[in-house]
Amino acid sequence: MDDLVQYLQDREGDMVELLRELVLMESPSNDTKLTNAMGDYLYKIVNSMIEADVTRLSGEPYAPHIKAEWGEGDGQLLIVTHLDTVWPEGTLEDMPCHIETGKLYGPGSFDMKAGIVQALFAIQAIEQVIQTMDKKVILLMTSDEELGSPTSKPYIEEEATKSDAVFVLEPAQGERGALKTARKGVGTYELKVHGISSHAGIEPEKGVSAIEELAEQITYLSNLTDIDQGTTVNVGVIDGGSSKNMIAEEAHAVVDVRVQSEAEMNRVVSEIETIKPINDGISIDIQGSIYRPPLERTNDSEVLFEHAQALAKQYLNIELEEESTGGGSDANFTASLEPTLDGLGAVGDGAHAKHEHVIIHELPKRSALLAMLLRRYGQVSQ
Ligand SMILES: [Zn+2]
Repeated sequence: MDDLVQYLQDREGDMVELLRELVLMESPSNDTKLTNAMGDYLYKIVNSMIEADVTRLSGEPYAPHIKAEWGEGDGQLLIVTHLDTVWPEGTLEDMPCHIETGKLYGPGSFDMKAGIVQALFAIQAIEQVIQTMDKKVILLMTSDEELGSPTSKPYIEEEATKSDAVFVLEPAQGERGALKTARKGVGTYELKVHGISSHAGIEPEKGVSAIEELAEQITYLSNLTDIDQGTTVNVGVIDGGSSKNMIAEEAHAVVDVRVQSEAEMNRVVSEIETIKPINDGISIDIQGSIYRPPLERTNDSEVLFEHAQALAKQYLNIELEEESTGGGSDANFTASLEPTLDGLGAVGDGAHAKHEHVIIHELPKRSALLAMLLRRYGQVSQ
């Protein structure tokens, strides 16, 4: 294990260089041209760094996902990363990629281009130092994670099912870089309220306001929140009406739902999906779902975490902690299938925020943690 750590410590400069290159290539999920270019670039990089079979998986209507298969053997280990970001083209002008006091700043650096870099170097370290293992390593780099993984989900689930362990390279949590063993489930609902329009001054009695109805429904939805149970229902976007002197015919809301447990998921889903109009003359159209189920802490994931904790302490002198988070990730799909450890990516701060950055000296350490986990789980007789 010490050799793996040393190999990666010596690669810190190369890791920073690759991370800079990836951050300088903007890759918003919705911009197929840019994410495609990012995928093409990674395809080349993987081939230049490790002896892997690299393929493209269809992501229609988004860019292809990149899959690298390294090594051979009956069993396999899965590493999940994503190459898309939430930042639109041109963000680099406001948020230039730069290094300051040991931190690399830039859009997508923390979430999760550094994770891709750490994964690639971890596999390279295994190849150079250990040479072979008893199991294959599959590295997925998907193009639509920030959209909720609509097209990558089946690939992730298929590979997870075949794997003995799943490592998700989403950013670690907080300054101390805790791993994530529980994540909230996430969903989106859209409410379209239809009322009856009429002139607000001439014949107000003939109208039924969609806006008034929506206002009452917002109160109802917000009351589904139960902070103690870890449930939040947030009406984050509203619009409606067309003119101030008209009783509004249409109103519309977008709702974010987060749940910590399956029980809460079932409660909130049934409340939302059976919403009834409060006022006569109103109809309501509801669309949406919980697209990522909650990742509840399982015994298998706990064992995985304890192994990571022991390796981090013995070889990296890191006291690894575990936390739960309100954000969803692809780990929400895999945790119910196979033991999953999330938050194995970069240490830093500012995912989806202007101050997004990674702590440079943590790059080789976290990469080494992944390499050691691969090594440990890559032996049949472990
Ligand atoms: Zn992410």
